Amino acid sequence: MPTSFPPIFDGHNDTILRLHTAKSDTNYSFFRDNEGLHIDLPKAKAGGLGGGFFAIFVPNREPMSGFPGTQGSSYAMPLPKPLHRTYAMNFVTGMAARMLRLEAESGGQVTIVRTADELSAALDTGVLAMILHFEGAEAIDRNFDTLHVFYAAGLRSLGLVWSRPNIFAHGVPFQFPSSPDIGPGLTAAGKALVRECNRLGVMVDLSHLNEKGFWDVEAISDAPLVATHSGAHALCATPRNLTDKQLDAIAASGGVAGANFHTGFLRQDGRSKEKTPLTEIVRHVNYMVERMGIDHVALGSDFDGATMPTDLVNAAGLPKLMAALQDAGYNAEELAKIANGNWQRVLRATWK
Ligand code: ZN
Repeated sequence: MPTSFPPIFDGHNDTILRLHTAKSDTNYSFFRDNEGLHIDLPKAKAGGLGGGFFAIFVPNREPMSGFPGTQGSSYAMPLPKPLHRTYAMNFVTGMAARMLRLEAESGGQVTIVRTADELSAALDTGVLAMILHFEGAEAIDRNFDTLHVFYAAGLRSLGLVWSRPNIFAHGVPFQFPSSPDIGPGLTAAGKALVRECNRLGVMVDLSHLNEKGFWDVEAISDAPLVATHSGAHALCATPRNLTDKQLDAIAASGGVAGANFHTGFLRQDGRSKEKTPLTEIVRHVNYMVERMGIDHVALGSDFDGATMPTDLVNAAGLPKLMAALQDAGYNAEELAKIANGNWQRVLRATWK
């Protein structure tokens, strides 16, 4: 069944974090099927996952109490504290090294892609394509020294913030229901960072950024606007989703938004519940396609970082999602755009 659909390129996962922070007795390996992981190589092959943005994310030093939306349909968690840069730098370096080792140990089954040609070649040949992506710029300094070093190591995508403030920008908190218009826009350093990313050809990711920051990037950036893992705010009023105006701006820029699969960002009631059908993802894709057009919508699973719909489970379930999209009326050409074509177009326009 998977071979009947085009390979899926996905906007966001936290698999490297899960591998990096796993307790030693877990014995996870990316190269075999692990019960606790949404993505590993066997599941990617079974599900037709051709690759995606593999996030490098630095967890909070103090644990957050309870995942948002598990307690009730409205919640407001305090913004996590900013990270110390040395801590972030050490953590990011360790995760990036893990990703580079994973590629080296894969015997050619995994490749960290740095150009649009490398990405399309990997998708054509069935080599799993990873984009080295930072979710939050805490490890980047004001002089951009680390940005340049990590670029040389393969960094091609940068989220200015996760849901906590840093020297560049302010993220949206975990609360529901809520507008994303919370807090100030980019700092002067944040604006300079966007320009430097444009110059280098590093994609700037708008997911997790607050609304004023979003409009600052829209005004500054000369690349298509991208939100790697965010759905439609009109359907689920979390500030992690995009308002109609934001969806319109992404489409107008020639960009793309990857619909998030996290049940707490899909459901109208905002609850994180496994007992949620994958047709909730289709509902967001349909809304976004109607609003933005077929050229601007893709997938941004949040695998290994969120609560998946019960009938999707993990990456091996992706053919079920493609079948549900097909049932919703998308033809082969449209499915190919959602699966990987839109990502390929946007990255070709963004990367140098
Ligand atoms: Zn995220």
